[in-house]
Amino acid sequence: MPEAEIQRERFGDDPETTFRQNLLQLESRIAAACARANRPRSAIQLLPVTKTVPASIVRVAVGLGLHCLGENKVQEAAAKSDALSDLEVRWAVIGHLQTNKAKQLVTFASEFHALDSLRVAEALHRHLVSAGRQIDVFIQVNTSNEASKYGLPPNEVEAFARRLPEFPTLKPQGLMTLAVLTGEADRVRACFRSLRGLRDQLRLSMPTSGLDQLSMGMTGDFEMAIEEGADVVRVGQAIFGRRPTKDGHYWPGLIPSSGSSEQA
Ligand SMILES: *Cc1c(COP(=O)(O)O)cnc(C)c1O
Repeated sequence: MPEAEIQRERFGDDPETTFRQNLLQLESRIAAACARANRPRSAIQLLPVTKTVPASIVRVAVGLGLHCLGENKVQEAAAKSDALSDLEVRWAVIGHLQTNKAKQLVTFASEFHALDSLRVAEALHRHLVSAGRQIDVFIQVNTSNEASKYGLPPNEVEAFARRLPEFPTLKPQGLMTLAVLTGEADRVRACFRSLRGLRDQLRLSMPTSGLDQLSMGMTGDFEMAIEEGADVVRVGQAIFGRRPTKDGHYWPGLIPSSGSSEQA
């Protein structure tokens, strides 16, 4: 099938109208979650996630006022950043990073939400120094204790955070997590609570760490995340429609099994 037809099948004839309607619905769900949690809407940043959405369609979304975009894979993000270089977009890389992709990330990204090793911190810092840039970072925490998830175990986060000042081009913003993938709401909520508890603890033990924000919640669970204190929700499918299942390897944060390749 030609590319244009594939796009029409997924995004319809009028993606602009579809996205606008999706955003309205999403906003009302965010507002309802804020009301339940007694939090102002302005306390929550929506980070639209455009992975698997082609650059030509991302352009439509930018036209609707979405100027800060999240991407899971560095190469895909870099290609879109090139294709849309005429637009004002702030790019956030939200997926696991291999050290050999740090150089590429530094060329376009303003935020990185999946910092979970000193090796990656070192690689990013080195390239950022050369480029004369800084980026905002979130430490990814494995709150579900699943071996298949990236992120630091909660009990290693403080020691890691204490090393971050060695990399002054990395500006710590907060903690990020992916909740367990399950329909069991209690277990999902427990992940978000755990991240918030860790943040609250760090506020006491490291009051100047900068690790204040919680990046948590996606299409399937952002309402619960907002109720549990999310500052940034990373939402793709609720805005851009379902990702085709063949893109299952795009599932966020999962360490690829031997069958799937090319993780960013
Ligand atoms: C894809 C992705 C999201 C968004 O998931 P949706 O189901 O599209 O809302 C959030 N966070 C990360 C790390 C992702 O890779």
